[in-house]
Amino acid sequence: MQSLEDELDTARQLAVADLADAIESIGFECTRCGACCTADGEDDHTATVFPDEVRDLQQTTTTDDERDWRDIARPMPYGLAESENGDLEGETFEWALQTDGCGDCVFYEEDEAGHGACIAHDDRPLICQTYPFSVALAGTSQPMGEAVESVALEAQREAGEAGDEEGIVRAHECEGLGRDISRDDAEELARALKERAVRELEEAIAVRDRYRPADPGPGEVVVHDSEGAKRMDGTPLED
Ligand code: SF4
Repeated sequence: MQSLEDELDTARQLAVADLADAIESIGFECTRCGACCTADGEDDHTATVFPDEVRDLQQTTTTDDERDWRDIARPMPYGLAESENGDLEGETFEWALQTDGCGDCVFYEEDEAGHGACIAHDDRPLICQTYPFSVALAGTSQPMGEAVESVALEAQREAGEAGDEEGIVRAHECEGLGRDISRDDAEELARALKERAVRELEEAIAVRDRYRPADPGPGEVVVHDSEGAKRMDGTPLED
């Protein structure tokens, strides 16, 4: 099995042009359906956000007032237990974009005609910039929705490393898949996809190296991110 460091080397060596080829071959155009920003049936919207992205979103120019950390992010719920009073408790290793009372991303708003939009579009996290694509390396995260398509990079095929069934570029459920995409848009998406894969692996390595069991008490949550252990409001645990 590859170490996270090996996977990070692989991610850093990904050629943007090859990723763009794969994206072009799958095809994508956002239909603005809002499915990737809203609750999925009974499940709240769940998308990973990095600590520095939370800080950028706190200062997003779409609002006059700086938002609190908890207005932007919540502990990733996976691995947390439910306490007796229904609150989550335990340790987790990522932040997720905060959700509203309907389980939708807090930055998703619909106008009266029902057209949805991201009010933080210019500051939206890498996972949003790259939806519905992901890079299949150990240590990278997969967005909501099953992978429905997978494409090997030209270099993988030439090296006889993979057919499309285990291709490195994955596409997840989305009604915009299969639509024509311009080369410029495919390359922009490819650049963000590579940046996201590198960032996810850098974060995973930092979390692994910094992790010390925090032993949270009943009703407490500790988030171990790449900057250390934090409380739910984003403040360091050791303060
Ligand atoms: S930040 Fe914007 S693009 Fe990302 S899930 Fe929320 S509304 Fe959608």
